[in-house]
Amino acid sequence: MLLDEIKSPYDGAILGQVPIATLEDLNLVLANAQTGANLWRRTPAHIRSEVLLKAAEITAQNIEELAQTISGETGKSITEARAEASRCPEIIKLSAFEGSQLYGSTLPLDANKGTGFEKIGFTLRQPVGVVVAISPFNYPALLVLHKIAPALAVGNAVVLKPARTTPLSALLIAKYFTQAGLPDNALQVITGPGSTLGDALVSDPRVRKVSFTGSTNTGRHISSIAGVKKLSLELGSSCPVIVLNDADIDLATDAIAIGGYVNAGQVCISVQRVLVDKKIVNDFLAALKPKVESIRIGNPKSADTKVGTLISEKEAERVENSIRSAVKDGAKLLTGGDREGALVRPAIVYDVNPKSPFAQEELFGPAISVSTFENLPESIEMANDSIYGLGAGIFTRNIDAAIQSAREIDSGNIHINWTPLWRADLMPYGGLKSSGIGKEGVRSTVSEMTEEKTIILHGKTWK
Ligand code: NAP
Repeated sequence: MLLDEIKSPYDGAILGQVPIATLEDLNLVLANAQTGANLWRRTPAHIRSEVLLKAAEITAQNIEELAQTISGETGKSITEARAEASRCPEIIKLSAFEGSQLYGSTLPLDANKGTGFEKIGFTLRQPVGVVVAISPFNYPALLVLHKIAPALAVGNAVVLKPARTTPLSALLIAKYFTQAGLPDNALQVITGPGSTLGDALVSDPRVRKVSFTGSTNTGRHISSIAGVKKLSLELGSSCPVIVLNDADIDLATDAIAIGGYVNAGQVCISVQRVLVDKKIVNDFLAALKPKVESIRIGNPKSADTKVGTLISEKEAERVENSIRSAVKDGAKLLTGGDREGALVRPAIVYDVNPKSPFAQEELFGPAISVSTFENLPESIEMANDSIYGLGAGIFTRNIDAAIQSAREIDSGNIHINWTPLWRADLMPYGGLKSSGIGKEGVRSTVSEMTEEKTIILHGKTWK
């Protein structure tokens, strides 16, 4: 059996080994998943719910183990990893609840001309069957749970393919579910390269649903080969934040100094394009710069480190080069942008041409671009000038401007007086345009992981 070594992006320490699955393994896994799906869909919701609540309890007892694993394999600071790990039991609990709420509706068939009272119609919701969940590296526990917890809560069998760089958190979570009494084959984790395993998983007719979070390019590829099945695609972005001239600059700069740099900017809802009214841009930059410069980067294990490494040195080099190219194209580097190994110092790049690759292409690194506008309609037009539409923010004290922005910005989530980098795990969450199809957030995922049947009871007309 071939093995992958999982290494710390900070110091290269070896953290574990996982198998590189073959296509033969995958065939067996999918056959097992069908068996698991048949068993689990026939398990009453109250029993499924008990298993999930137990898994939540076990996860809660092991937050520190999970946090250390997350931090180790991603290079994110232990503080950020603890925050991620501590949300995990709550997602499982929310899923346990939503999985017990599979209500349907009664159909008023007699309102349809030609139909009387002799028939009764209603809808039934059931699990889709076999779900393939494919997750990215940046939140290796949270984004795994956003898929598997609702999927299992409603009675599906799940085959999980975590990112190749971060399988250890996923395997740990699977262990907690197994310890909680989840039956064999209801959840299987398959490790190895997405490029080969992914294609085979996504196109297999035994799979009814593919739930994917990752880059827009991979999402496009998946949608081209998936065939007739349900698809959820949570993809890339280049999130805008508008700062109007009546904004609370202190609030806006506090929020942007968080929203652009959390997890070294490797968040799909990271702040990337900051659009500031020309009249206040100098005050804005003067307030933002010291806040960004105070973000301490370094050893992920240290409690003093706010932001750790990117996922690899190669990714850090890519981000460093993007910043350099922006500067070569005429933008000004206000602070940061230098690199040491996989660490990149938080950067502010000012006077960025909003049409340039630095603004338009997803950066996925700890830097923001700042551009200016003259008025609200122009700022909304600039915010919408992107192939993406995942998250957006606007800072203003003007309720009319806030409402107009909420109506006119084409984005899955819009935050008034905060940046897009904010998420409650129960809220609907997902992008418009090339940022994806479908919604996550526990209740929405339950809906996407189930299918509705319409049942008609045909009686006889009575006198
Ligand atoms: P990625 O390269 O697209 O990989 C994501 C997952 O897809 C990994 O498990 C990867 O496996 C797998 N994969 C690769 N090729 C595949 C194929 N042909 N078929 C099926 N699966 C395949 O993305 P990433 O670099 O891990 O994550 C960063 C991206 O995710 C960013 O674009 C970010 O915006 C996006 N993201 C979006 C959201 C959201 O909610 N919208 C949330 C988080 C991240 P390997 O690792 O083995 O290649």
